[in-house]
Amino acid sequence: MTSITNHMPTAELQALDAAHHMHPFTTNDELSAKGARIITRAKGVYLTDSEGNEILDGMAGLWCVNIGYGRPEMAEVASRQMMELPFYNTFFMTSHVPAIALASELAKLAPEGLNHVFFAGSGSEANDTNLRMVRTYWAEKGQPQRSHVISRKNAYHGSSMGSGSLGGMTYMHEQGGLPIPGIHHINQPDWWAEGGDMTPEDFGLARAQELEAKILELGADNVAAFIAEPVQGAGGVIVAPDTYWPEIQRIVDKYGILLIADEVICGFGRTGNWFGSTTVGIRPHIMTIAKGLSSGYQPIGGSIVCDEVAEVINACEFNHGYTYSGHPVAAAVALENLRILQEENVLDHVRNVSGPALRAGLEKLADHPLVGGVNIKGLMASLPLTPHKATRAKFAGQTGTAGFMCRERCFANNLVMRHVGDRMIISPPLVITPEEIDVFMSRAKTALDETYAALKDGDLLKPADQHDAPSPLG
Ligand SMILES: *Cc1c(COP(=O)(O)O)cnc(C)c1O
Repeated sequence: MTSITNHMPTAELQALDAAHHMHPFTTNDELSAKGARIITRAKGVYLTDSEGNEILDGMAGLWCVNIGYGRPEMAEVASRQMMELPFYNTFFMTSHVPAIALASELAKLAPEGLNHVFFAGSGSEANDTNLRMVRTYWAEKGQPQRSHVISRKNAYHGSSMGSGSLGGMTYMHEQGGLPIPGIHHINQPDWWAEGGDMTPEDFGLARAQELEAKILELGADNVAAFIAEPVQGAGGVIVAPDTYWPEIQRIVDKYGILLIADEVICGFGRTGNWFGSTTVGIRPHIMTIAKGLSSGYQPIGGSIVCDEVAEVINACEFNHGYTYSGHPVAAAVALENLRILQEENVLDHVRNVSGPALRAGLEKLADHPLVGGVNIKGLMASLPLTPHKATRAKFAGQTGTAGFMCRERCFANNLVMRHVGDRMIISPPLVITPEEIDVFMSRAKTALDETYAALKDGDLLKPADQHDAPSPLG
């Protein structure tokens, strides 16, 4: 076997990557022409690439490395578990200690009444589980017609057939025959992009009431569930106005439909509580978990299910599961992650230290002529870029041009900030220190200055006529 290592020249690694590796959500030909940036190691909040650059990871990988990189305890637990029991299934009347321990711990951490866990390998798989579980729940209760699920435009729930259908990304639906039948999307509570002249409060209420209108349109007896992220992540870190969630809860209660909170990003401290549902004050029947559950050290996801739904599902044979449901190594590593989050008081750190420091830094950055405002909850945030702050105007040109430019300038300044359209996205490891946040801000400021200068040079700072059209995705 040829050995390919960190010590190979970057160009050779890039050539092999281009020849054999198909990247997700990427135009691979464009990437091949440019060459992928090769990440070789990471410690704390810093990544190192094959050229020796030290890059501050403002995205915690993909919203997941909550405890930061390079924790030896995680490796030790994985190694121990692999020696003891690297794999066994949980299908045929068997169980094992890591799955038992992790399910028990999650039941303890989850809001009251959510005491049962169905494991998956990822967030996408977990949302596929949820879709089948809520439909099975209603069928078992003698209401098989209750099969419709309502979600939101610009939601992200994963990339499989089921979870991609639940998501509201139109550019995903355009490929591969999505969405599957029985899934409906209402508008998102994105006041910044779509609120026009309404107050955030009125807008939040109006967008929540679209749920009631959709339920009535489908027939209240035909609706199984509503699924939503407490704070939309991949859609652009969209924090709903304060009026939104209480109204959603009222509507869900009124019509007796199930509420699924997709906590894949919001869970495990990202918003300052164990779950985003607590932060926004909702009572879900099912919570989707993944990402921060293991801080990304192992792939694992799952559904935390309320007593009422579990009682019905547990009484039938639910013909569903994954080879790696409750994988012992992944479960042991996730449990160690939960131990670290608790023993090191990481949630307090988010509430009292890193969260306030990030907010203060971003609010200062918002004075920049290109930054239209700050959306932030805990340690997830976005900065919408705009050519005209006062009207929250979009750019006249192609959506995403400014965002893409800014992301490239961030990378050039050794900072990872992602862009969604023309919004810059921030979601660093939860353990980031105020000093590291200062480094983040200074690199981000440089990147914004460079982006501004480039946009000005290219005559790209013109506002579009309208600012209240639905935001294109990208
Ligand atoms: C990432 C994500 C998913 C999908 O998780 P995967 O592990 O990538 O399958 C689902 N929901 C939300 C909110 C996510 O951010």
